[in-house]
Amino acid sequence: MSLEYHNLMEDIVLQEVDAIMRSGGGCCCDICKTDVVAYALNHLPPHYVSTHKGRMMVKLQSYEMQSHADVVAAVSEAAKVVARSPRHDREE
Ligand SMILES: [Zn+2]
Repeated sequence: MSLEYHNLMEDIVLQEVDAIMRSGGGCCCDICKTDVVAYALNHLPPHYVSTHKGRMMVKLQSYEMQSHADVVAAVSEAAKVVARSPRHDREE
């Protein structure tokens, strides 16, 4: 049996990232999006759960409520940083 873990913070960041990047007006391509997600996750506390019993959606919801403001702040900051210096050339 393999041991499997999942960082719930990833789910929460991924839920928020599209809307926050769109409202920020920066590039929303996959390269920038993965950079924003990685930056935000490095600035947020991880929240690991074991996944052998499946995802615990109820737990996710209550955790999400607590940390929602922190996630929005971290993703917004990440989107600003990435928009200032995207890893690819600007296309327009
Ligand atoms: Zn981009």
